[in-house]
Amino acid sequence: MLKALLLDLDGTLLENAMEVFVPAYLNALGTFLAGYVPPERLVPELLRATAAMDANDGTGPTNEEAFAAAFYPALGWERALLEPHIRRFYAEEFPKLRSLTRPAPEARALVGWAFGRGLQVAIATNPLFPCTAIEQRLQWAGVGADDFPYALVTTYETMHASKQHPAYYIEILGRLEREPGECLMVGDDWGWDVLPTTRLGLSAWWIAGPGEERPSEPASLLGQGSLAALWDRIR
Ligand SMILES: [Mg+2]
Repeated sequence: MLKALLLDLDGTLLENAMEVFVPAYLNALGTFLAGYVPPERLVPELLRATAAMDANDGTGPTNEEAFAAAFYPALGWERALLEPHIRRFYAEEFPKLRSLTRPAPEARALVGWAFGRGLQVAIATNPLFPCTAIEQRLQWAGVGADDFPYALVTTYETMHASKQHPAYYIEILGRLEREPGECLMVGDDWGWDVLPTTRLGLSAWWIAGPGEERPSEPASLLGQGSLAALWDRIR
């Protein structure tokens, strides 16, 4: 019986083309911090520290701490001095990236339906960003954390693995106190959202065109299609 709904964010609840968003984000952050670190130094170190955080497999610290340990020493900055400026970036500049995104049609209806059914709802977005960046994107998607009492939103402050490790979904199951068979994961990325969850025994819905070919055939794929198609199917 379905007890918990796990929802990816980018490409699932929020239409957000990463090949557009990520360069715009890096450019905005580099420009904002240019008075402290030249962008040509900041961006490679940010990407390197993000890769170090992405390697976090659940046996180490939080993703935030894994990032910080790789990032600040490499730049030669004390964390306590540079971090406030990064926070200011997320407060002042990050909101401007909203125009690059669009809420997925049906996102709000689906989330509202799930809460109406008494399901636990978790936002299972790759936790490589701080809470503020994830909560802002949830708002852009029309499903803000102020509107819906999510059981869990995975952020870099709280999680100990990225989506490429089974530990990420195991940590979610632990926090929700759910068995895999009680959960449905909805996401657009086959390798991050569908494959690892179905391997653990969750069922999954793949956000993809109805005719898009599946890279493999997992046991517990509920189906594939848009968020609207999923909503039609489960309500
Ligand atoms: Mg996605």
